Amino acid sequence: MSNESTAASNFIRTIIEDDNRSGKWGGRVETRFPPEPNGYLHIGHAKSICLNFGVAGDYSGVCHLRFDDTNPEKEETEYVGAIIDVVHWLGFAWEKDGRSHEYYASDYFEQLYRYAEILIERGKAYVDSQSADEMRINRGTLTEPGKDSPFRTRSVEENLDLFRRMRAGEFPDGTHVLRAKIDMASPNINLRDPVIYRIRHAHHHRTGDAWCVYPLYTYAHPIEDAIENITHSLCTLEFQDQRPFYDWVLGQLADAGVFKRPLPQQIEFARLKVTYAITSKRKLLQLVNEGHVDGWDDPRMPTLAGLRRRGFTPSSIRLFCDRVGVAKADSWIDMGTLEQALRDDLDPIAPRATAVLDPLKLIIDNYPADQQEDCTAPIHPHHPEQGLRHFPFSRELWIEREDFNEQPPKGYFRLFPGNRVRLRYGFVVECTGADKDADGKITAVHCQYFPDSKSGTEGSNNYKVKGNIHWVSAAAAVPAEVRLYDRLFADPYPDSGDKNFLDAINPNAKRVVQAYLEPGTAQAQPEDRFQFERHGYFVADRVDSQPGKPVFNRIVSLRDSWGTAKPTR
Ligand code: ATP
Ligand code: MG
Repeated sequence: MSNESTAASNFIRTIIEDDNRSGKWGGRVETRFPPEPNGYLHIGHAKSICLNFGVAGDYSGVCHLRFDDTNPEKEETEYVGAIIDVVHWLGFAWEKDGRSHEYYASDYFEQLYRYAEILIERGKAYVDSQSADEMRINRGTLTEPGKDSPFRTRSVEENLDLFRRMRAGEFPDGTHVLRAKIDMASPNINLRDPVIYRIRHAHHHRTGDAWCVYPLYTYAHPIEDAIENITHSLCTLEFQDQRPFYDWVLGQLADAGVFKRPLPQQIEFARLKVTYAITSKRKLLQLVNEGHVDGWDDPRMPTLAGLRRRGFTPSSIRLFCDRVGVAKADSWIDMGTLEQALRDDLDPIAPRATAVLDPLKLIIDNYPADQQEDCTAPIHPHHPEQGLRHFPFSRELWIEREDFNEQPPKGYFRLFPGNRVRLRYGFVVECTGADKDADGKITAVHCQYFPDSKSGTEGSNNYKVKGNIHWVSAAAAVPAEVRLYDRLFADPYPDSGDKNFLDAINPNAKRVVQAYLEPGTAQAQPEDRFQFERHGYFVADRVDSQPGKPVFNRIVSLRDSWGTAKPTR
């Protein structure tokens, strides 16, 4: 596919091109995106997806979709399906030459187990039977070396026997672990005999009760990469200190003849952090479970399912990732950058329409009650070839409440008694007054129209007015529920310091209004997107829209009203 997200050069591409020049991989480029199926993917994952699938695509390679399901406790099949859907939706595929590259770490459990035995046989792993507390104490600190476990000198035979009995289910959780035998005095704590297997009598969503020992991610991941012939294993910066262990595991297994060199290369890049959002799966789960939002795909959620439901296009998210770039250093990206990518993506293509979100009746007293006439406007102002939309003009219209003001402030050019405005694509009217109810609330505005002022006619040039407001005919308007979404958090850094992110939830992030829309929008299909003039970009909700009765979500307003968050932290 053509893909904007892959256009920019970055340090990872430089490494790949160097490898291609030196012939290290024979020109092969194979990456992987390895989500753990313990939640829905979020905007941070989009960066990793665009990067991994993007570079693979650009160098005629392939990116594997690999479910890293080594942890039985929190993983669920629901998440697997949701991940597959959303990566496809983003525009990526994992088939090459008729072969699907969808993998599950759990399919490698037997191999992972066998390779652990090989490490034991070669004196590179041992069963430790210290308690968790003892292990923690003996691990040392950043400044002090660790202490060898009293079990570190167990014989190969004893280790093999114990490890096999661990697998056979003879021991309860936490009684033994398998550790790599590296160096308890290493300045890198990750090399102080890291645990590679633990006992967990837990049901796994794919392997059921077949296993009661599970490999740790840090051990399994490099092996999964090597089994799949990954060339460049791209991951986020927090794994930098794990890289020596990644190389150790694969080096040991290569020495044992399990894998051939060259071995996959781990390369780290900065995580994506977006202001006004959180990207911790645990906290996203909390928002869902505690009912702060209406599910994983709530349009306020920074999940990809939420962004999709909100109305973001896959191309806008790829454009965003492209603009963010790929670097080695962590930094905050303003939420405004994501919203602007959506505007830039939709502005050239979204058809225009009129929506009155806060309706107030406008009555044209000199327009006959039984009359109606056709008005037209371009479907897209920059694409006249797309033609015109048609909508009726009539005596009673809906306008925005804020487009009338009895006591106009200075510089207010819209409707007030005695003032003239143009009803966009229609006539010039002069305001004559307003009706009020017993509480003094305006219930209708009255005006007179000028029959020779219709837009597009010669007479219209004789009218110079400063205000130009939108409207829909009351008789023809489509009544519709419109959900006005805004940022989920009111604080750019809801999750920093000792803040409770729940306190930062923006109570105004969802407002539901009954609006009146231009007649043509009644036919909108789920996920059809429009620019509602003067308001912003909207989408027909993919879940709640009914045939002939769309429900709309505001994706973003036309302009950023938040301002750029200060780039601190
Ligand atoms: P967990 O704490 O559950 O491991 P995670 O965010 O690391 O959370 P994974 O499912 O392991 O979730 O992530 C899959 C891949 O996406 C990993 O390679 C990870 O590095 C990458 N990734 C996750 N979050 C981000 C982010 N904010 N920016 C860029 N890449 C990310
Ligand atoms: Mg992870």
